[in-house]
Amino acid sequence: MTTLECSICNQGTLKKENKDEVFEYQGETITIPDYVVHRCNICSEAIVDNETLKTSGHILKAFKREVDERRV
Ligand SMILES: [Zn+2]
Repeated sequence: MTTLECSICNQGTLKKENKDEVFEYQGETITIPDYVVHRCNICSEAIVDNETLKTSGHILKAFKREVDERRV
């Protein structure tokens, strides 16, 4: 594993963090498990993992479509 340096403050080190991230859309919520972010230990900025961004993007798109269809 490589240690990533924070590109926001250029001082901190990014630490991998797994969590459940809750998203809300039109009053409905969805929880995405294993949501990976890289958090800086200095400025606390969290950068979403590329793979997670891709996966959650698909999930959220499907979720929003589902919500929209239900509202029609
Ligand atoms: Zn930082």
